[in-house]
Amino acid sequence: MNQDQSDPIVKIIDLRKSFGHLEILKSVNLEVRRGQVVCVLGRSGSGKSTMLRCINHLERPTSGAVIVNGEVVGYRVKGDKLHELRPNEIARQRAQTGMVFQSYNLFPHLTVMENLMEAPCRVLGRPPAETREEAQRLLNSVGLSDKADAYPSTLSGGQQQRVAIARALVMKPSIMLFDEPTSALDPELVGEVLEVMKSLARSGMTMIIVTHEIGFARQVADEVVFMADGCVAEQGPPSQVIDNPQVEATQIFLRSMT
Ligand code: ADP
Ligand code: MG
Repeated sequence: MNQDQSDPIVKIIDLRKSFGHLEILKSVNLEVRRGQVVCVLGRSGSGKSTMLRCINHLERPTSGAVIVNGEVVGYRVKGDKLHELRPNEIARQRAQTGMVFQSYNLFPHLTVMENLMEAPCRVLGRPPAETREEAQRLLNSVGLSDKADAYPSTLSGGQQQRVAIARALVMKPSIMLFDEPTSALDPELVGEVLEVMKSLARSGMTMIIVTHEIGFARQVADEVVFMADGCVAEQGPPSQVIDNPQVEATQIFLRSMT
C-alpha cells in the first residue's frame, strides 16, 4: 500500500475483542497521525491494555482491523483477500511498534547493552557494531550513558524502565506504545521516566500512552482518549477531555482521580 505522510500511522477500525462471552472492546475507532501523542485514560478494566495489545500482535481482534503504516496488523492483503502473516512476517511487522509495559521485563541474565542488542541483532539481523553504537546513543538519551555493562538487578525501577524504553527504541519503531509505564514505580522514580517520555514526544515520536498521570497527559497529549466499558467515550484535546469533559463517565473518572 502506498503511504502518504499525512495518512494516519495507526488506524483502528471498528475493533471488537471478546474473551469467551465477554465483549471487552465494542467497536473502537481511533486514528493517530505521524508525530501525534495520544494519551488513553479510563478506569481499570475499560479495555485500554486490550486495545494496545491488538496493535502489537499480543491479542487478535475478534473483528475489525488495526492498520499500522498502511499494513493490516497480522495480515497481508493480496488482491481482495487477507492472508494471515507467517511468523517471520509478524516479527518484522511487530518491530514497527515498540511497546513498554508496566513491568519492564528486562532479561535478568543479560547486561543492559545485551538487553538492547538482543532483538535488533537476532530478530532483524542488524549488524552488531552499528547496533551497539545506536544502543549507546539511546542509553545516553535516556540518561544512562554509564550503565551499558550493568545488570538489571543493580538498577532502580526508574532506571530499568528507562532501559526498557531504550530497548524498544533501538528497533527503530514508527510508533511507541506505553501501557501504564510508571504505575509500578515508587513515586519518587515516576518523574525521571515521564521526563524521558516528554523528550521523546518533543523529538516527534508518535506515541500512544495509557496512563493515570493526568498532569502528564495534560502537558504532552495532542489528543486524549477516554475509554469506558470497551468504547471510546470521549476524545479531544486535553483542554476539553481533561479540563472540560462533556461526557458524564469522564467527569466521574476525573473527579475520582483528584
Ligand atoms: P484496562 O487495561 O483498561 O484495565 P484490560 O484491557 O486489561 O483493561 O481488560 C479489560 C477486561 O478484559 C478486564 O475485565 C479483563 O479482566 C478482561 N481480560 C483481559 N484479558 C483477558 C484474557 N486474556 N482473558 C479473559 N479476560 C481478559
Ligand atoms: Mg491495563
